Amino acid sequence: METTTVTIGNKTFELDKRKAEEAFAAKRVINGRETMFFNILPLKYQWAYELYKTMKANHWEPEDIPMQKDVEQWRDTGSAISEIDRWIIKMAIGYFSAAEGIVGDNILHVTREVVTAPELKLVLGRHAHEENIHADSLVYMISSLGLNPHECEAMFEDVPTIKAKNSLVVNNSRELRRDLDLTETRNKQELAKNMFLFGQCMEGTQFYGLFGMVLSLYRQNKFPGIGQMFRYTLRDESNHISLFKHLLMDLVEENPDIWTEEFRAELIDLMKEAVQLEKAFIADCLPVNALGLSADEFTRYIDYIADRRLESVGLPPLHPGIQNPLPWLAEMMDIQKEQNFFEGRVTEYQKASALESVDDDEL
Ligand code: FE
Ligand code: MN
Repeated sequence: METTTVTIGNKTFELDKRKAEEAFAAKRVINGRETMFFNILPLKYQWAYELYKTMKANHWEPEDIPMQKDVEQWRDTGSAISEIDRWIIKMAIGYFSAAEGIVGDNILHVTREVVTAPELKLVLGRHAHEENIHADSLVYMISSLGLNPHECEAMFEDVPTIKAKNSLVVNNSRELRRDLDLTETRNKQELAKNMFLFGQCMEGTQFYGLFGMVLSLYRQNKFPGIGQMFRYTLRDESNHISLFKHLLMDLVEENPDIWTEEFRAELIDLMKEAVQLEKAFIADCLPVNALGLSADEFTRYIDYIADRRLESVGLPPLHPGIQNPLPWLAEMMDIQKEQNFFEGRVTEYQKASALESVDDDEL
């Protein structure tokens, strides 16, 4: 038997060469060999396995983040905390409580169902789990601040701009929950569209209005525990955006019939719609400007970030040459440079060398 040596990290494996080549060749994003065995080896999508390792090394748990200061500030009506500041926190908790679950649900019922290569299923499983951690962090915020959970749910159901953002993604996800004949170009395009919508439009763009606002408060030493959790969430999101970018690009590479001019135009229109919904939402979050918070800057930031997402998948920007109006945000999101930025058990999960996202272009 001829053997071939495979090395992953510090482990080495001897594989039967012929079988390994067959298994490798049968690996596809979709329409690959269906097997009950979780045959990650031989690895075809190296990026997926590396991303999985990075995500695992970034593991955090909400309860490790102290909330005392946040609780004090939330209750102290005479403090420097304004009603707008509190409103932003409520919108953040209200919106993300639903949004994190929607993302995880789409992965489990759409994406992970149709991809066939095991290493892709592996990283998608981790992605879904991270959405659980994010959802759990919101439960922790709600309980720490003593908010009425039904009030948070009501925001999701009653605030029209939240409803509009969520309908866009939920409707798309529902339409794909059926037997899709993925040999047909139109169905492959529907799947590609779902990947673009969730990775680049939702997690990649529509999450960033509130991320920016919450981190702007954090920068002013307001709600440090919540801010810290959002920084961790954001670091995770940058890996999720990267995951869906790679997935979409590999899907298109293996199925070039997807990438027609009409289809590319469809994706650009979808991003335009997502941006428009996000801008309306920002106007609800910031009905008047507050200390260090200008609605105009956040909407321009959305234009800026949407263009980065479009370019990352080879699509043209909507506002060529647009500058980042919030350069401090990039720094705030880049937590790998910081050391011991808070005391807590979280550090035990992390290997200092692994505190990074795979791509550094995800800001
Ligand atoms: Fe998330
Ligand atoms: Mn995510």
